[in-house]
Amino acid sequence: MNSGSNLTPSAAGERRQYADPIVAAESDVDLLAGLLADAGRIVSFTGAGISTESGIPDYRGPGGVWSTGKPPTLDDFLTNEAARLEYWERRRTGYRQMAAVEPNGGHRALVELERSGRLLGTITQNIDGLHQKAGADPDRVVELHGTAHAVRCLSCGTVWPASEIQEWLERTTGEPRCQVCGGILRSATVLFGEAMPVEPLRRAIAFAQEADLMLVIGSSLVVQPAARLPLIAVRAGARLAMINRESTPLDRLADLVVRGDAGRTLATATGLALAWEPFRSYATG
Ligand SMILES: [Zn+2]
Repeated sequence: MNSGSNLTPSAAGERRQYADPIVAAESDVDLLAGLLADAGRIVSFTGAGISTESGIPDYRGPGGVWSTGKPPTLDDFLTNEAARLEYWERRRTGYRQMAAVEPNGGHRALVELERSGRLLGTITQNIDGLHQKAGADPDRVVELHGTAHAVRCLSCGTVWPASEIQEWLERTTGEPRCQVCGGILRSATVLFGEAMPVEPLRRAIAFAQEADLMLVIGSSLVVQPAARLPLIAVRAGARLAMINRESTPLDRLADLVVRGDAGRTLATATGLALAWEPFRSYATG
């Protein structure tokens, strides 16, 4: 495939917008490597698609411990004891399986980019904690939808690690309570009927505004307000690349869209981009 003029380094304003992106197959991974190599402030935006290769099904898909049962709403946690008991029962039997899931080549490639100094941070829609488990600096990961690996007190706000609550769940029956104030505990994920918390969104917007390359991986970009973040990055002058199996509403803004497996594509592209580094240093003196 012809790489086209929109992959050459460009000054601000020179960049093509609202034109068709280059849609590359997985085998055209060198196009992505070129964008990664040119960028110094990459921000990745990840959705369910980066974790399917770790065995976590897309939450909209059928089956799996992450999607069985109806997730409780905030109202359920506040007022419906039966729904809470059902929730804790699912955690009692399913959490260890969730906690055993391992990150894949995609998560590890982002860690490599971070350690090379090119990745500012990761904004994720996932609650699985796999970026941190792969070695990402937790301070550089923004979890827009919270995390499955913590629970929080509805009364005093104390956050408890899921492993601690799990030990309690496995020792006894019923519903765990806050050990500080006796309050009701809730999942630390964003619940149905609950607005996205302000602080992670604020940090995500700051990342998007600082990026020189926004890399969308495995997100259909339909859940708002998160789906606007790549748009914010583009408006602030960033390039936009996507690795997705399906098209998204923002594809037409992208410089490059790669259709393929997130993990394999990203791992190969990152390897190439970092291997070019010595040549680039030599070329620029
Ligand atoms: Zn409490």
